[in-house]
Amino acid sequence: MEMIGFIGLGVMGRPMASNLARKGFNLVVYDVNPAPLGQLETLGARAAANCAAVAEGSDVVITMLPNSADVEEVLLGSGGVLARLRPGTAIMDMSTVDPLLTDRLAAAAAAKGIAFVDAPVGRLSAHAERGESLFMVGATAEAFARVKPLLEAMGTTIHHCGGPGAGMRTKLVNNYLAIVSCAFNAEALALSQRFGLSLEKTLDVVHGTTATNGQLKIAWATKVLKGDTAPGFTIDLAHKDLTLIVDAARAVKVPMPIGATALESFSAARTQGEGTKDFSAMVDILCDSAHIDRPRLQ
Ligand code: NAD
Repeated sequence: MEMIGFIGLGVMGRPMASNLARKGFNLVVYDVNPAPLGQLETLGARAAANCAAVAEGSDVVITMLPNSADVEEVLLGSGGVLARLRPGTAIMDMSTVDPLLTDRLAAAAAAKGIAFVDAPVGRLSAHAERGESLFMVGATAEAFARVKPLLEAMGTTIHHCGGPGAGMRTKLVNNYLAIVSCAFNAEALALSQRFGLSLEKTLDVVHGTTATNGQLKIAWATKVLKGDTAPGFTIDLAHKDLTLIVDAARAVKVPMPIGATALESFSAARTQGEGTKDFSAMVDILCDSAHIDRPRLQ
């Protein structure tokens, strides 16, 4: 059976790797933070001392890291994975990163006879815990067939979006809608609160019209509107993704005035020291700054 390496055991990576371990895959794992390693070991995974050790023992290496710089360092850096993997192995990056980095990684891997798959993740951390994630995959048909059993162990919905890079670009389109809707939901609910409307009734109305959106209906109902602002998906990561999206759009000459404005709302939240909260907490930050009661469901 193939040995699967997994690097990055945070909010998303830990439950994803746990699902692989529970479903019987041979797993070697690493994170700079030692806290989640023990938990993976209790599920039968082997903890490695560093990224190089993961690469040396693996047939497929999965990365689930915060941002482009982390992925570039882990895969291409001095202690990097790519330098140590054998021809015939595969890399699957599941982080959300700059698609131009994805293109460079795919080319560097191909030059060494290593398959490269980008498979960023949709849905919430709660879905990752339950093995119900959605994946947007960029890969050749051959590489897609190879990683499909791994994806099936971690999620329920797998979209093969095209060749390498297509998964990451689909993810940016998806997250544009998800993140910008978070910013305008915050403004809408602040207005509802200022008007003194019933939050329950406002939500009843908008969930039954074309105003409905998944952030408000699916995500917020169990997060900020219940007073839970623990991440989840942080304001820092939303800011990172929206920066990638606006930059990528600029590079291909697509104007994004709404995205650029929403990005600065997230920038302002970060300067107030709120970056580690769940991104649904944007509504609390806006309400606090305008001296409006935070919206809460009973
Ligand atoms: P996270 O910060 O919780 O986890 C990242 C993990 O990577 C951390 O445990 C960190 O210690 C580890 N790490 C960082 N640098 C490392 C290195 N050099 N070597 C080894 N480990 C290292 O982030 P997350 O929420 O799990 O998100 C991971 C990625 O998935 C991000 O790109 C994010 O945008 C994307 N994503 C997140 C969500 C979500 O809801 N949280 C959903 C979909 C996609």
